[in-house]
Amino acid sequence: MDALDGNAIGGLLQEVFGAEMTAATGTCANCGATGPVAETVVYLRAPGTVARCRNCSSVLMVFVKVRDMYCVDLRGLATLASSP
Ligand SMILES: [Zn+2]
Repeated sequence: MDALDGNAIGGLLQEVFGAEMTAATGTCANCGATGPVAETVVYLRAPGTVARCRNCSSVLMVFVKVRDMYCVDLRGLATLASSP
């Protein structure tokens, strides 16, 4: 399974958050690393879509599509802030 980066889920994030989020800054709840969503490590079939911290590999975000609804788990993120 190949790892992608956060740009691979730009469209998904747009659908879930209703905004362009790849430039948003996330903070890992495990190690405290911060960086743009575009730089997370993304697996598209994990199952669902999983974004992991590039620093510690902790799971930051999980997206699972059930019927036409996304179930989103952001517990791995301490913060997620859109850039101005
Ligand atoms: Zn981390």
